[in-house]
Amino acid sequence: MNCRGVVRELSNYLDEALDNGLRQSLEIHLEHCEDCHLLVDTTKKTIQIFCNSEPLPLSEDVRKRLHDALLKRLCHHPKS
Ligand SMILES: [Zn+2]
Repeated sequence: MNCRGVVRELSNYLDEALDNGLRQSLEIHLEHCEDCHLLVDTTKKTIQIFCNSEPLPLSEDVRKRLHDALLKRLCHHPKS
């Protein structure tokens, strides 16, 4: 797995939709590559923020579009 592979598989990884082999090689790469580690970490936090739906200091329009896009793509387990 290289950096490009991590970017390609990132949303599957965060969805926990990767098969074990792919997931493992991605995690091994993360241990050695600070850039990708940061990317995954930042993306996870961003998703958490959006999934928790705290208002952000962005314009209403931008926030809504981002939120909708992320929810559609990544938030598979809404809190009930
Ligand atoms: Zn990398």
